[in-house]
Amino acid sequence: MKYYSTNGKAPVATLEKAVVKGLAEDKGLYMPERIKPLPKDFFDEIDKMSFQEIAYTVADAFFGEDVDAQSLRAIVYDTLAFDCPCVKVTDTIYSLELFHGPTLAFKDVGARFMARLLQYFLKKEGEGSQVNVLVATSGDTGSAVANGFLGVDGIHVYVLYPKGKVSPIQECQFTTLGQNITAVEVDGVFDDCQALVKSAFMDDELNRHMKLTSANSINVARFLPQAFYYFYAYAQMKRLGKADEMVVCVPSGNFGNICSALFGKKMGLPVKRFIAANNANDIFFKYLQTGKYCPKPSVQTIANAMDVGDPSNFARVYDLYGKSHAAICADISGATYTDSQIADTIREVKSQTGYVCDPHGACGYRALSELLRPGETGVFLETAHPAKFKDTVDRILSADIAIPAKLQAFMQGKKQSVPMTNDFTAFKSFLMQQP
Ligand SMILES: *Cc1c(COP(=O)(O)O)cnc(C)c1O
Repeated sequence: MKYYSTNGKAPVATLEKAVVKGLAEDKGLYMPERIKPLPKDFFDEIDKMSFQEIAYTVADAFFGEDVDAQSLRAIVYDTLAFDCPCVKVTDTIYSLELFHGPTLAFKDVGARFMARLLQYFLKKEGEGSQVNVLVATSGDTGSAVANGFLGVDGIHVYVLYPKGKVSPIQECQFTTLGQNITAVEVDGVFDDCQALVKSAFMDDELNRHMKLTSANSINVARFLPQAFYYFYAYAQMKRLGKADEMVVCVPSGNFGNICSALFGKKMGLPVKRFIAANNANDIFFKYLQTGKYCPKPSVQTIANAMDVGDPSNFARVYDLYGKSHAAICADISGATYTDSQIADTIREVKSQTGYVCDPHGACGYRALSELLRPGETGVFLETAHPAKFKDTVDRILSADIAIPAKLQAFMQGKKQSVPMTNDFTAFKSFLMQQP
């Protein structure tokens, strides 16, 4: 399979190049040249298949031309060493819980898959090839990528995060690991971290000094595997006899997650329509209303993993729909919520159903509760465990929610990070000093 750039000015790339480079030379995002529809009997049988079997079928459609079947199967099965159950919240609203992985957030899926695929390509290249992963995080990406790559030979990870803008629980998940993981604490906001990473990829001298790749959701090996759990959600809803008018609601920030769902739809996944739920960072919501895409600086919210002012994967959504605003609006609607609406929702869901949402999932639940039509069943993505945002959720619920053991283990470690300004010259000279 070849991958083209959304900017259309870079040569097409192999999967290996797209994964290792991350971003195309023209700063565009890689897109697969073809999207293979899955056969009808796959969807007929899907409710009898395991998560791993479903995921392997989807992975084969994306990557089967470039990775041998045995290796691809091993990568998929090893990635999905945990479940993603659909849990009933109300009669018409289900939560797709994506927080059962090592760092308790959905990014574990893409990060684990990418680490294993990159390792596969490095092994093919032979001994001695070393690659450096640069990743900007507004919270959960850093922990998922750091843990996905921890201890993987031949790969060093630099996690850039905005100082004081990720929760202490998130921070400890990538600053306490050591080994091949370096945390870089940037004096700025998430968009500054993302800009530093993008500048690094464009810098010739730096790229001659070290081999750089990205593990942000712009990387095809991270965002495409997220399609797996949408198929699995459909399978689970089908088992319940509730898949006929399924609406999927995705709490969205950088739009990688929903973009993978849209790929799923192009492959034939019978989702009736999608809702992208935003926090106060409403760039996509405004785009749907006006047809104009106007990035602006991100604002800080209690759903901080969605604090993105210029969502990278918008370029992919736009490309996927042939740059047609009408076509995008036909499949996706939007919603945007303030912090106080998010807090109200967390309280309401808890008191009415007993279910505890995290601030991101709460945006998804609320959008479904407001926008579902008669006859439809909604599935929202519970993108992280509420305990990852314990301070916020405790304050809202006046409670003391339990911290899962997996999370507690991270909090025992010692924090190590490199302080950095948001100026590229400083970041570059730091990287030039690395071996
Ligand atoms: C990353 C993240 C999101 C946003 O996902 P995108 O793919 O960037 O749209 C939502 N919720 C949580 C908990 C996240 O970590």
